[in-house]
Amino acid sequence: MTLRIAFARINQETNCLSPVSTSFADFESTHFLEGQDLDKAVSRSGFEVPGMFRRVELAGFMAAMREAKAEVLPIALFSAWAVPSGPLTRECFDELERRLVDGLKAAGRLDGVYLCLHGAMGVKGLDDPEGRLVTAAAEAALAPVVVTHDLHANLTAQRVEQSIAVLSYKTNPHRDHFTRGRQAGRLLLQKLRREVNPVTAWRSLPMLLGGGTTLDFLPPMLGIFARLHALEVRGRVLGASVNMCHPWNDAKGLGWSTCVTTDGDRDLAESEADRLAEMCWRVKDSLPPHFPSLPDALIQARKARLARRFGVVTLCDASDVVTAGAPGENTEFPRLILEHASDLLTYVPLRDPVAVETLFKRSEGETVTLDVGGRLHPELNRPLKLTGTLLHKRQNPGILRTAVLAVSGLRLVITEGPAVTLKPNFFTQAGLDPWKADVIVVKNFFPFRLFFAPLSRKTIYVKTQGVTDFDAAHALNFDGPMHPRDHVEDWRAADERRRVIRAAD
Ligand SMILES: [Zn+2]
Repeated sequence: MTLRIAFARINQETNCLSPVSTSFADFESTHFLEGQDLDKAVSRSGFEVPGMFRRVELAGFMAAMREAKAEVLPIALFSAWAVPSGPLTRECFDELERRLVDGLKAAGRLDGVYLCLHGAMGVKGLDDPEGRLVTAAAEAALAPVVVTHDLHANLTAQRVEQSIAVLSYKTNPHRDHFTRGRQAGRLLLQKLRREVNPVTAWRSLPMLLGGGTTLDFLPPMLGIFARLHALEVRGRVLGASVNMCHPWNDAKGLGWSTCVTTDGDRDLAESEADRLAEMCWRVKDSLPPHFPSLPDALIQARKARLARRFGVVTLCDASDVVTAGAPGENTEFPRLILEHASDLLTYVPLRDPVAVETLFKRSEGETVTLDVGGRLHPELNRPLKLTGTLLHKRQNPGILRTAVLAVSGLRLVITEGPAVTLKPNFFTQAGLDPWKADVIVVKNFFPFRLFFAPLSRKTIYVKTQGVTDFDAAHALNFDGPMHPRDHVEDWRAADERRRVIRAAD
């Protein structure tokens, strides 16, 4: 009999400190595909998330389905992805959940479900929304559910108990989306054919930060990632993950977690999940590096003459990282750059839909005086009054309209929507030549390094004040003492409480 397996993606990473909430329209305007459009996007020649990812989890899952040939009928429900930002509105979550449940019920008899979830999605007034989605899918389909997560997921007992396995990326920066999706598909098929009996154990640590840079190719995380790989090549470990959590998420049981799925061996799953947790706890005191202030970074940029002559100095605005859910409207950057380095040619992105609206009514070359910033998070990003020349107006896909205002050496790239600034072509599309700049400001933590490599001769991470500062999460309410904000002697008390209490929720 043909196995009927439904699949869907609901993906958004939530920074609960951002006041910019996420609506269903944000998913629709960023990425929302269903039915035949989704079938095409996840086919061998398709482009899974147009403009962003060619072949990621769902394409990987489909590769596993194709390996099974006529035995399987994959049923595409929908794929929804929104830029990391503040929590989803309750209406938005309800709409996504309703579509998932209705889609599963309309699909008729189902043998299995694959859910591609970020793992750190937040919803106003709801704890563990993704756990709720996993449960809703299992109940609507009356079939086993397999889940994939980003490794910055905040794992919960509900998700572990309602699924046959939760597989998180085991690379940082992430580059195994496709293979994790394929592994989830293969595992689900093996389970449905009764070839394996997945048994999962997990551990939850009261630990927000640790692991140094957390990159998988550098110590101290190198050994932990190597352990994950080694475990999975053993026959009886079907999946092993370490989740480093999204520290700006107000989930009750926030923190790092480990998760191991074996073929029928409960003791092995428990002992390996425990061993991984011990390994993570041992790297807890390797905290992220201390970042300089913007004036100090500008002194360094000024001194880096050769870097500026043969390329650019790249400043990462670590307090306003759009890919970690920040609004992208940090006005401290243009303010301090004009104060300390107005002679350097500096490109700075800033999100302000109102300023864009104003500038689009003016002509290129005109001198304009206007307020920028303070629209999305005014308590933090004080508005800044500027007088400058409107250099360019552009309409680009993904970030909507863009206007460039020139004030001395500052080129303020004002965007209507969130600007991730992953690649130098963000500035090219705005009408600026990246090679001419002395300094370029970006708003993502790591992936830019790959795309800016040919251009950037020096990279400096900068701290001002914002919702992606490592200490910003200290303002949140946790379910007990939390490393590194508080002294935590042993992780086991929190782990036991979380696994038991959460299971009873
Ligand atoms: Zn991640």
